[in-house]
This record gives sequence, C-alpha cells and structure tokens, in this order.
Amino acid sequence: MTLTIEEKKERKTAYMRVWRATHKEQNTANRKAYEQSHREEIRERRRVYSRLWRTENKELLRQLKAAEYQRHKESIRARQAEYYQQNADRIKAVVNAYRLSHLEKKKAGDAAYYLTHGDERRIAASVYYYSHLKEVSASNKARRLANPDKEREYSYRRRTGKNSNIIQAVKLGAVMQRDRMICGICHKRVARKGLSFDHIVPLSKGGTHAEWNLQVSHLRCNMRRGAGRIPAQMRMAL
Ligand SMILES: [Zn+2]
Repeated sequence: MTLTIEEKKERKTAYMRVWRATHKEQNTANRKAYEQSHREEIRERRRVYSRLWRTENKELLRQLKAAEYQRHKESIRARQAEYYQQNADRIKAVVNAYRLSHLEKKKAGDAAYYLTHGDERRIAASVYYYSHLKEVSASNKARRLANPDKEREYSYRRRTGKNSNIIQAVKLGAVMQRDRMICGICHKRVARKGLSFDHIVPLSKGGTHAEWNLQVSHLRCNMRRGAGRIPAQMRMAL
C-alpha cells in the first residue's frame, strides 16, 4: 500500500517520538557534550539573538520591567537599601570621585540651568522654606553647631550688611595667636570654651571685619560691652 505525504510525516513523527523516549539518556548526554564543546559559539548565538530581540521589543521590554518592578517594589527597594547600607563608604567614594572629576562640567551645567530657571528655583526655594520652617531651622542649627568658626564668619558678614566693609578673609587663628588668648577687655586669660572675638570699632559703628579690628575676648566681656559702647582703646580695664 502507498502512503500519502501526510501519512508518511505522521509515521515519521511517531517513530521519532518513540526513538526519543527510548534513547533519552543517550540523547541528553549527546546534547550536553555538544553544549560543552560549543560553549562559546552557543553563548555568542544567544547574545546576538538576545540583542536583536531587545532592539526589536524595546517597548514590550520596558513594560515588562515596569510590571516586574511594581510586583516586587518592596523587596527591590529593601535590597537596594541594604546594598547601600553595606557599601555606603564605597558608594560615597565613587560619587565623590565622579563629582570631583566633573566639577567644571557641573558648574557650567548649574550656571546654565540657573540662567533659564532662576525664577522657578527661587519660587520653589521659598515655597519649601515656608512649608518646612521647623526642618529648615533645625538643620540650620545643626550646621551652625557643627561649624562654629564658619558660623562666626557668616554672622559677622550678616552684621556688616552688604559685606562691604570686609576687606580680607579673617583668620581667627591668627588673631588668637597675636593676642595670646588674653581678653582685650579684661586682660585675663580666655579659655577656648568662653572664647569670643570683639570688634574694637563695632561693626554697627562702621567698624571693619578685619584681623586688625578684632581682639580675643571673653564671651561675657564682649556681651557686657555690647554694640553701643565706646571703642575699646578709650576704655579702662575693669
Ligand atoms: Zn574678659
């Protein structure tokens, strides 16, 4: 009897099925041997195929990733936080190194951004300021406590108004060394703890915030003297 092409195909398929079932182990071994000896070739083929697939299915891929993220949001975030915790120093070092090596670029970028978004930024900043008054003042206070010398400098600048009578960067260390930690008002020794710097001609009387117009003083002496006093040179030590 003669078979049609379909019948022949069917018979062959059935035969193959039986053959596969009876030679399972041998086939598996063969496949593994092939994969072993063609490892690189297989990998490369997969890479090429995967790249092609990704370029052809960008949108689908994006959707899949987003869905995946939504499904596992909590655990992904927890894992990221944990990773950050364990590698905080290393991550900070990398970020810092990047910042340092891209400083100029960032400055240029920031300047350009401010030019085009200045008003927006100012409005956003003041909205933030007024809606976070407590936080802002807490963080300002923390910063002041952490950088007392800087804060002193800023405070002088504020009190001098437009920074106009600042003629040089003041090195308080130099004033301390010059005055040998002796209070210019009571002429007694000043400990680091109660240390203050007195403007000989008060800033409010147009005095300059400069080393030559500063003297080491006790905080309490400085405060007792206040801003409305006569210049120190004309005053007798108590
Ligand atoms: Zn004193």
